Amino acid sequence: MKASGPLDVLVVGAGNAALSAAIAARRRGAAVLLIERASRDWRGGNSKYTRNLRCAHDPDGVMPGAYGEEEFFDDLMQVTGPETDRDLARLCIAGSREAPAWMEENGIRWQPAMRGTLHLGRTNRFFLGGGKALVNTLSATAERIGVEILYETGLVDLAIAGDRCEAVTLASGDREWAVEPRAVVLACGGFEANIGWLEEHWGAAARNYAIRGSRENDGLPLRRMLEHGAMARGNPKGFHAIAVDARGPKFEGGIVTRVDSVPFSVMVNEEAERFYDEGEDLWPKRYATWGRLIAEQPSQRAWSIFDRQVVDRFMSTVFEPFEAASIEELAVRCSLDPAQLGATVAAYNASLDGGTYDPSRLDGVATAGIAPPKSNWALPIEQPPFYAYPLCPGITFTYLGLGVDADARVRLAGEGTFQNVFAAGEIMAGNILRRGYLAGFGMTIGTVFGRIAGERSADV
Ligand SMILES: Cc1cc2nc3c(=O)[nH]c(=O)nc-3n(C[C@H](O)[C@H](O)[C@H](O)COP(=O)(O)OP(=O)(O)OC[C@H]3O[C@@H](n4cnc5c(N)ncnc54)[C@H](O)[C@@H]3O)c2cc1C
Repeated sequence: MKASGPLDVLVVGAGNAALSAAIAARRRGAAVLLIERASRDWRGGNSKYTRNLRCAHDPDGVMPGAYGEEEFFDDLMQVTGPETDRDLARLCIAGSREAPAWMEENGIRWQPAMRGTLHLGRTNRFFLGGGKALVNTLSATAERIGVEILYETGLVDLAIAGDRCEAVTLASGDREWAVEPRAVVLACGGFEANIGWLEEHWGAAARNYAIRGSRENDGLPLRRMLEHGAMARGNPKGFHAIAVDARGPKFEGGIVTRVDSVPFSVMVNEEAERFYDEGEDLWPKRYATWGRLIAEQPSQRAWSIFDRQVVDRFMSTVFEPFEAASIEELAVRCSLDPAQLGATVAAYNASLDGGTYDPSRLDGVATAGIAPPKSNWALPIEQPPFYAYPLCPGITFTYLGLGVDADARVRLAGEGTFQNVFAAGEIMAGNILRRGYLAGFGMTIGTVFGRIAGERSADV
């Protein structure tokens, strides 16, 4: 099949959802063209930065313990709340049970859960070699079974007549052309890399955010579909954000800029003042609140300050922390007011009266009489050298997407669905996730709905 030849299914994107859709459609006999706006080297969107997916399962050789569909559903309800589309959520969770076997058929292999701070061994399956290996493997499988892939080629618009897509305009460099597939699968991510769009909700502060994933995910196809009458689902203002090392790149910092030192430290803003309880809850439950908290600080900057006692207790970012022999010297390295940082740390240290420190549980070793408190793991910061990471918000993904039905068909803003436009992955995750996040669920949504979208689009 050539790009200029008869085309059954056009798949937009080359992340996990798109590759899953392309493979599923091709295995059902469709002539499939997959377009990816990035170059071949940068293919794979946010999926290339992932490490695992969450799936319901019985105990097996890879994952210890069982993780039932009800427990999975309850975990989801706790983070996303009642507005979620429960039927789609249940469909996705049921599909997660079969996902690993299907992925294995397409070349994916597993590795033991990585050690780190998120403790996901029972619920999440880790890709051998991580997300980059997953993207490489699925791309190779897709090509081997006859999916044609065009890199540096983006969707710029769709010609919609009523509830049908008649044609799609593609662009590569200066060249634009139209294709007329029988069906289209949009699997091209959220709009987190579109700073202008983020600014519509967050103002100029959005310019200070780092975007952890692909610079290509600007939401253009999402915007076009909303203009063409598609239903919006999810939260237009919502994003998932964590604390990342502010020395990382603006885009594509991936996983290695994530900062895990927060519960071991005190967090200060650029006024060298604490602003939130660093020991509120276990880190896996809290790590995703810190991106938003830092986004609310002046200049969207914060510093995580700690000492020699804890420096080896968490995974470092790809950068060495700033190091100094005194808190005042550390403040200078961080461009903070030395007197104020000294006073903040002194007040924190003076508020402590001991207890049995245990970072593996809520140990109740807390501050007293200061605001905000540090409710657990409150060790004094007193043993040089002292350290600091400079932090900014790192946006992982956005929560606005296209409404879909159980066939992954895109819904119209009024009644009904588009006949031949499907969506999978982050671009429709807002049906299920409107806020909060379950680690590993993004790849579950992409795999399950990618497969569904691929199969249904092949049947159009
Ligand atoms: C650092 C990081 C770590 C993460 N870790 C995990 C994890 O371990 N487990 C997990 O479940 N989730 C994780 N996530 C979330 C996860 O990456 C996403 O949920 C998932 O990758 C979404 O897959 P997708 O295929 O929908 O989108 P993506 O993988 O982002 O793919 C979208 C693709 O569309 C392309 N594209 C965009 N616009 C166009 C256009 N106009 N034309 C053509 N192509 C276009 C992009 O180039 C990109 O290749 C992580 C995210 C980040 C940023």
